[in-house]
Amino acid sequence: MMGALLSKLWPQRTIAPQAEELNNQLADNIESQMTISDKPCIFCNVTRERGFDIVFEDTEFIAFKDHNPSAVQHFLVIPRQHIATVKTLDKQDSLLVQRMADVANSALDQFGVEYNLRRLGFHIPPFNSVQHLHLHAHGLPYKSLLRSMKYIVSPGSKTRNKGFSWFVHVEQAIQILERGQRIGVLPC
Ligand SMILES: [Zn+2]
Ligand SMILES: [Zn+2]
Repeated sequence: MMGALLSKLWPQRTIAPQAEELNNQLADNIESQMTISDKPCIFCNVTRERGFDIVFEDTEFIAFKDHNPSAVQHFLVIPRQHIATVKTLDKQDSLLVQRMADVANSALDQFGVEYNLRRLGFHIPPFNSVQHLHLHAHGLPYKSLLRSMKYIVSPGSKTRNKGFSWFVHVEQAIQILERGQRIGVLPC
């Protein structure tokens, strides 16, 4: 049931099969390892010339429209500096995440999205796509129920800022990092 749901949500099978494939290739020989690690990162090369619809940029961040939007408005906010994923962040990165949220909110402001229709958050590995930190910024509603399931916010408890989830709300992410914890799929 869970597997079927996940493969529907991530139809390109970006989860386990890709990791398995990568492992095989790495084991194969050093040459293939080099090919993989030398692959250019798509989000290290975000420019208008490459077809990105950029809505905001400064020296540190870029916000652009998702090419396959899940909601009425769907932007991605990235740091120019290559940071792998939300899982690699620690306590000192909470300010970076806050600044990404500020950029996301100003992009949503530009498009007149009301505060109660905003959802901001990150996918948690292995449920992420591109291995360059990107904050999803949505102006709701979602395009379908299935799409909305990729971005479910799991509330926390007395001792945790979030429950089991593949998506972490940006406020949860900041709170978890400020507590000195790492962000993962399991409650944290
Ligand atoms: Zn990158
Ligand atoms: Zn994502």
